[in-house]
Amino acid sequence: MNSLLKVPHLMEDAPSPGQPQGFALKLMELLVIPTFVLDAQGRVIIWNRACERLTGVPAVELLGTSGHWCAFYAQQRPTLADLVLTGRTGEILDLYDGQARGPAGTRDNLCAENWCEMPRTSGRRYLAADASPIHDSDGKLVAVVETLRDLTEEKQAQIALEQLATRDGLTGLANRRCFDHTLLAEWQRALRQAQPLSLLMVDVDNFKQYNDAYGHVGGDDCLKRIAGAVASEMRANDLVARYGGEEFAVILPNQSLNGAAIVAERIRCRVEALRLPNSGAAQHFVTVSIGAATAIASHEHMPAQLVATADAALYRAKHMGRNRISLPGA
Ligand code: GH3
Ligand code: MG
Ligand code: MG
Repeated sequence: MNSLLKVPHLMEDAPSPGQPQGFALKLMELLVIPTFVLDAQGRVIIWNRACERLTGVPAVELLGTSGHWCAFYAQQRPTLADLVLTGRTGEILDLYDGQARGPAGTRDNLCAENWCEMPRTSGRRYLAADASPIHDSDGKLVAVVETLRDLTEEKQAQIALEQLATRDGLTGLANRRCFDHTLLAEWQRALRQAQPLSLLMVDVDNFKQYNDAYGHVGGDDCLKRIAGAVASEMRANDLVARYGGEEFAVILPNQSLNGAAIVAERIRCRVEALRLPNSGAAQHFVTVSIGAATAIASHEHMPAQLVATADAALYRAKHMGRNRISLPGA
């Protein structure tokens, strides 16, 4: 049944479909863009067929009610149309992931995007919504129209791309690009908050021999095991990345050199405890050497200097016989 024809006061206003107003209503009903309209009291007066298809909720359930939120969310909350209707446009920042006001001159129009649970369909969808007020000839707000676009596929593709762009394919750790980006961000944060920032450079010992003995595929497997061991020692704000080849880098925000040395020693022990045989190495097991460095961020220094200091410490750890940690100047 045509849902529009069930709306009592639209029926009063709507003349026959041969007249412009009736035609406009019919058009909205059949529009392929999911659309619903609230009256000035926040009750649904239009819930078109595309909206029924998108949400799985038939118009007959919602017309004349204010229950439209349950087509999108599991918990009651305002839709974009409700925010426009009640003038609570400031709440958009808390309620939506991506949002924008309408173009200049259309101050009351809102555009926003977010994930919706869609309780009556098979899964959540990422929807973009546009809500616009409708005023009568006296300028009184009489209704709000909300149109929806399903951007789920685009959003998923974007997330997958972001994931690809920041992850290392072999180990699943952050990649070098993500490391560079995070180090700069943490450096700036450390600068603002006058906190120390520590860095560990972790390099697998005698890994060339490992590849020679167990083949490249065996070597890849070994790197994955080491990556898991290093990652298991991380706290929430730490970042472990594959820096390159058989080298990992660990960013430890707000960590002193003493604290960094403790984390480094735990990582070294964790890898040693894997007891992965490396027949070519002096210790006969896979081990790592770790260089640590800490900086108090300043405008005079660059994050690259922190990397260089940790690298120099790593070089000393290698020089002193491997399977050990080294601190600057030690
Ligand atoms: P050191 O103890 O001084 O670090 O010696 P090393 O043999 O580990 O260092 P070297 O730089 O001579 O060799 C590193 C080896 O790591 C050589 C390279 O083939 C191997 N490698 C780098 N990336 C990968 C990878 O993705 N997979 C595998 N299997 N091997 C890798
Ligand atoms: Mg090595
Ligand atoms: Mg190396």
